[in-house]
Amino acid sequence: MKVLKFGGTSVGSEKNIKQVISILNDYSEKDNVIAVVSAVGGITNKLLKAGELAKIQNLEYVSVYEEIHGTHIELIKALIPNNNDEIVNNTISNLQSLKQLLDGIYLIHEISPSTTDKLSSYGELLSSQIIAEAMRYQKLDAQVKNSQELIVTDDTHTKAEVNYALTNENIITFFKNTSHKITILPGFISKSENGAITTLGRGGSDFTAAIVAAALKVSDLEIWTDVSGMFSANPKVVKNAHPIESISYFEAMELSHFGAKVLYPPTVQPVLDLEIPIHIKNTLNP
Ligand code: ASP
Repeated sequence: MKVLKFGGTSVGSEKNIKQVISILNDYSEKDNVIAVVSAVGGITNKLLKAGELAKIQNLEYVSVYEEIHGTHIELIKALIPNNNDEIVNNTISNLQSLKQLLDGIYLIHEISPSTTDKLSSYGELLSSQIIAEAMRYQKLDAQVKNSQELIVTDDTHTKAEVNYALTNENIITFFKNTSHKITILPGFISKSENGAITTLGRGGSDFTAAIVAAALKVSDLEIWTDVSGMFSANPKVVKNAHPIESISYFEAMELSHFGAKVLYPPTVQPVLDLEIPIHIKNTLNP
């Protein structure tokens, strides 16, 4: 079993999603794969922005909502041209609930941490369903599993603590009983023991991937992003910066302190504990 994680840019356009599908298609010929996906690039920020605007009763929130709506419908049209009714209906019904949530925030002039989690969870819910359907459209043996049914947390909203005993058991049981070659999991989202929607904090999809990789004790974790690995310095600023072939967790932690954004080591703690290596790969240049 392989665990791969694809970030927002990797699933940010029709072209990039097709690239992700082709990578997963290749991998699935050798082994079963789990792909943890982020929200479509920029969507989590837009969801939170729409919530903030609705809270201060600024009607601009409707336009931000419409952008979110448009992005997802366009992706479906491009990736699943014969418009499979089920995915369109699911997406539309998710988008309608999102709109109701925003209207509610507007009316009560307030947004609590628990509402923030409900709001931000739509990004990964939408992206994971669309990507899995786009794969099935290309005749790949793919399923989507809602991570909220696997990852159990406490009730600390917007950055919940994971209950590893329950979470690991859920993950192991689920993957023991599944025969699909590809499983798409939404990153970042979870549920508390009491059934409340929670999230793992910004950038939490890396954390989801690390939790799953550690629960299944896989041999390595692949994080697919939009740069070719960790560099000795910011390649946009330093001309002769070069990719680092291999680096310890400790050094990666230090680099991230100094601003390297490619990997934030605390989010991969579960694989660090088991000394599972992480490979950083570029979706746009596999
Ligand atoms: N979509 C979430 C965020 O933007 C989680 C992630 O992408 O890792 O923070």
